[in-house]
Order: sequence, then structure tokens, then C-alpha cells
Amino acid sequence: MSIEVTNISKVYGTQKALNQVSFKVNKSEIVGFLGPNGAGKSTMMKILTTYLDASDGKAKVNGHDTKANTKQVQQSVGYLPEHNPLYLEQYVREYLSFNAQVYGVAKSRINEVIELTGLTSEAHKKISQLSKGYRQRVGLANALLHNPEVLILDEPTTGLDPNQLVDIRNLIKNIGKEKTVFLSTHIMQEVEAMCDRVIIINKGEIVANTTLKALQTEKEQVVVVEFDYRVEDAFLLKLPKVKAVENTHDFVYEITFATADDMRSHVFDFAHDNQLKILQLNQKNASLETLFRELTS
Ligand code: ADP
Ligand code: MG
Repeated sequence: MSIEVTNISKVYGTQKALNQVSFKVNKSEIVGFLGPNGAGKSTMMKILTTYLDASDGKAKVNGHDTKANTKQVQQSVGYLPEHNPLYLEQYVREYLSFNAQVYGVAKSRINEVIELTGLTSEAHKKISQLSKGYRQRVGLANALLHNPEVLILDEPTTGLDPNQLVDIRNLIKNIGKEKTVFLSTHIMQEVEAMCDRVIIINKGEIVANTTLKALQTEKEQVVVVEFDYRVEDAFLLKLPKVKAVENTHDFVYEITFATADDMRSHVFDFAHDNQLKILQLNQKNASLETLFRELTS
């Protein structure tokens, strides 16, 4: 077991940030820790990385207790904190060398992590000269320096542009082939793009813990369709296996079907039969989004 959290609570003064939180993360899993702002994600991650003591409960990383075996936990875990604090005036290689020295990591590892995180062409630059995406890579390289078993990444993609987002997600997925990754996010698509499992937290409490597979096989599906003209909801409700129709804006409709089968061709035929033109037609993985909204609103 890579992470084992049992009844962790955390109180800041009078503010209860975590309330009896329990969950496990298996070796080599990529688990998304999903929740709205203020849910307690960063607090949980700081406890797991020994930056913060829990008020109550027990947490183990790689089998080591976060309170009793701080050092072993730190050796087991690579941490990318929220907002990735970097020394902007340092050069990439200099920054990594400095930290390698602090952690007693062999010099040869510096080139390894530079290569692993795709920083080779940027390693000679000052951190201040790097884009946000490359700065995140520096943070990831730093987290990987001591070759930890477990990576804890606190909102690793927040503030990235769409291209950088895809690059960093791919990088994390790649790293996740060899390591356990526990990453926080408030973006559902992120979980869908990267994770095997999702743990949803709201107001300091775990409200869901499920594999993406289980969610995807739930027998419900949403098709988003844009016509070139208005259609009566009642009309769309005649589609086979339809459960609900929502006109989200203009001529865009979200049609929920009570089946896991791809229903887009039925929508297409419907449009054709009724002389409507389709401007867009997409299948949306509704389950996670619906679940998130239901559980955190
Ligand atoms: P998230 O990372 O999910 O956005 P946090 O763990 O940062 O959530 O915060 C959880 C709750 O604890 C929030 O209500 C936040 O305001 C509060 N909180 C976080 N850090 C502190 C602190 N140092 N002192 C007081 N309250 C805090
Ligand atoms: Mg946070």
C-alpha cells in the first residue's frame, strides 16, 4: 500500500479542514484527489508529506507513519506543492544541483530527471525565463530527484495553457507507469485524462472513492448536440432510450440516454429525418461530472 489514511482530522484554530478522512492508494495507481477550492486537498497533501501534523488520525506513506517516521516518509515521497515555489533567479540545472546536494542525491541523477521531464533544451536557462509549463517540469524534476516511490502533486496543471496542459498530463501519465501518483485538482477532465481512480473531497470529508472504469460503465450517457435551429424538447424526448433533454444554450442540447451505448448515430438519423443540420455532436462522459456536481454543490 502506497498511501494509507485512517480517520485523519485537521483543525486550524476553529476551522475544521479535514474531518475523519480515510482512504488508500495502491502501488502504481494514479489517483485524482478532486474537490472544490477549500475542500481540504492541500491540507491532506501537506500531512502526507510531513509538512503539517494532523490533529487526529493516522497516515502512512509507503508503509511509514507520517508522525513517527518522518524521515522515511520524506524519502518515499516526491512533492510538488501548490503554486510550485521556485527561485526565479536560479538556473534550472543550478536549482536542481542545489537540491540534489541538500538531499544527498548522486549528481548523475540530475541529468536523469532533466531528461525524464523533457527539460534538456531548457536546463541552461534561468527559471524566470521559462514558461509556466516548463516551470512545472522543473517542479516535477525536483520532486523526482531522490527517486521516490510516491509522487504527491498539488494542482500540477493549474494556470497552464491548453498545450502545456496536455504536455504535463502526458508527462505525469508517463511517470505514473513507474510510480504511485496522488494528484489534486478541481478539474474533472483532468481526472478523466490521467487517473485510474478518483477520490472526491468536499468540506473536509470524503464523499466518493471510485474507479473511473466503474463510473464509465454506469448505464448513462450524455450526448451534446448543436443544431442549426431550435428544436422542441418534447421532440427530442422521442429519441430511443432518452432520459432527459436540456437546452443548455442557443441551439445546443444535452441529451441524457439511459444506456452506455453510443447514441450519436441515433441523434444523427433524427436530425436527418427532420431536416435539421448538426453543427456539433459529442459524447460527454457525464458520470464524473454529474457525480461531482451532486456531491459538492
Ligand atoms: P484546498 O486545497 O482543497 O483548496 P485547503 O486544504 O487549502 O483546501 O483548505 C481547507 C480549508 O482549511 C479551507 O477552508 C482553508 O481556508 C482552511 N485553511 C487552510 N490553511 C489554513 C491555515 N493555515 N490556517 C487557517 N485555515 C486554513
Ligand atoms: Mg489547495
